[in-house]
Amino acid sequence: MLQDLEQLVQLQALDAEIAVLEAAIATIPDQIRMMEQQFVQAKAALDAAAAEVEQLQKLRRQKERDLDEAGREIKKRQGRLYEIKTNQEYSATLKEVEGLKQKISTLEEEILISLDAIDSTVKLRDQEEQKVRVAQAEFLKNKQQREDELHKLQDRLSILRKTRESRSERVEASLLQLYLRLLKSRDGLAVAQATGRSCEGCHVTITPQLYNEVRRNEAIRTCEGCGRILYWKG
Ligand SMILES: [Zn+2]
Repeated sequence: MLQDLEQLVQLQALDAEIAVLEAAIATIPDQIRMMEQQFVQAKAALDAAAAEVEQLQKLRRQKERDLDEAGREIKKRQGRLYEIKTNQEYSATLKEVEGLKQKISTLEEEILISLDAIDSTVKLRDQEEQKVRVAQAEFLKNKQQREDELHKLQDRLSILRKTRESRSERVEASLLQLYLRLLKSRDGLAVAQATGRSCEGCHVTITPQLYNEVRRNEAIRTCEGCGRILYWKG
């Protein structure tokens, strides 16, 4: 086979492998981002559970303050009962004390309920915390794997690029230009086999004369349909 033609066929195989590697490398950052998303979601669930605990505790503290306040109000009124002169005022104050007692019992009940709610929310938060730990460990492990994979691919790619460079230096300059143009415009297939009397690239039938020339692999011949460089694989 013509030296240049041989080089081009091998160059094209290299370029195909390089394209596959580049595509694989390009997907890795997205894969890592997607894996991180799961970890971020677990973290968001934890933050929400922690915020709920915080909120419930804040409400409980408020109720405890209200309880203390109601206790003080009762004492104030009970102390005042001895100084009251009129029956009307006396019974009004007693009624207030009753109301406050009612309020205290309601608050005490609400505080008990809120303590239960805090308990179960704390449990939920702890579970979410555990999930975050698992998700984080998982994410870091997978990320490391992907990064190791990335480095392997990059090493392989740089070897292939060097091989490609030295190989393309052996091809005559204007032919190399034609090859590169075709590679770009013909979807990665610049050098096409002539199989079954037609071009592998565009499937147009090759004239008998061109076919005979291509079969000899002794000159650069291009397809009349798509312009690809034709060769014969004996
Ligand atoms: Zn063609």
